[in-house]
Amino acid sequence: MATAPSIVRTVAELRRQVAAWRAAGERVAMVPTMGALHEGHLSLVRLGLIRADHVVASIFVNPAQFAPHEDFDAYPRGEGRDAELLGQAGCELIFAPDVAVMYPDGFSTRVLVDGVSGPLEGEKRPQFFGGVATVVAKLLNQCGPDVALFGEKDYQQLLVIKRMARDLDLPVEIVGGPTVREADGLAMSSRNAYLSAEERATAALVPIVMAEAVERLRAGLAIEAVEAEAAARLEAAGFGPVDYVQAHDGETMARLGPGPVGAGARLFVAAWLGKTRLIDNWAV
Ligand code: AMP
Repeated sequence: MATAPSIVRTVAELRRQVAAWRAAGERVAMVPTMGALHEGHLSLVRLGLIRADHVVASIFVNPAQFAPHEDFDAYPRGEGRDAELLGQAGCELIFAPDVAVMYPDGFSTRVLVDGVSGPLEGEKRPQFFGGVATVVAKLLNQCGPDVALFGEKDYQQLLVIKRMARDLDLPVEIVGGPTVREADGLAMSSRNAYLSAEERATAALVPIVMAEAVERLRAGLAIEAVEAEAAARLEAAGFGPVDYVQAHDGETMARLGPGPVGAGARLFVAAWLGKTRLIDNWAV
């Protein structure tokens, strides 16, 4: 039976514990989350334990990455359950700061990453990557881990964070973990809790349609035709709007096409199902 992780809410307490581990010559991994945890998050904790002696998870629903019309207030929260799951996965310390700790009065700094944050989520949610990069830069500075883990489920976000860490010389290794899926292939997401039973059944179409699109790309069909067909199939099944089905380079995030794909392509999707926005991506 794993022991319950300690929960700290101030940067000083977080640093005290991490410094004690460091003084003992031990390595520290960090897994930033917004809570409402599922197996995707826990897989990152387990990956962290392979690369370090201790895992710190942060739980912070970051207001800076939500636009005013988005689901900040509705975002699922449940610290007790999250702490229990984290403890079972081997996480020893939870950093769960209040908004005032992260963004004290007069807070005026923003980390903006050009290039990889431009397309896809960058176009559809213009505030998003600035909010993410700023909060992740803060969390990494607050904790000072040797390694930090992020999911490929949010592939563009992983690239943005890698770019930021390199550009700002943050002394941390950024590691991606594979997307964890439900039995029917739907990528696990805290937002899946918003889906009605009927929507949940329809959502299973995303991995099916996208896997077929990936096969067509591999077979050499024209990118733009494959993208359009996949988007049309999702729309016909009740998704709407489909924000994008697009192939991009998996390193630079440059849009691919026209014509067939080359090496290193990834296929990205974002689509609304009722009031829920689902995103996912696949290596081609
Ligand atoms: P979130 O709580 O949604 O901000 O996610 C926290 C971290 O968990 C991010 O690095 C996500 O990419 C990662 N994550 C979320 N869902 C999954 C999943 N299904 N598989 C793997 N990692 C995930």
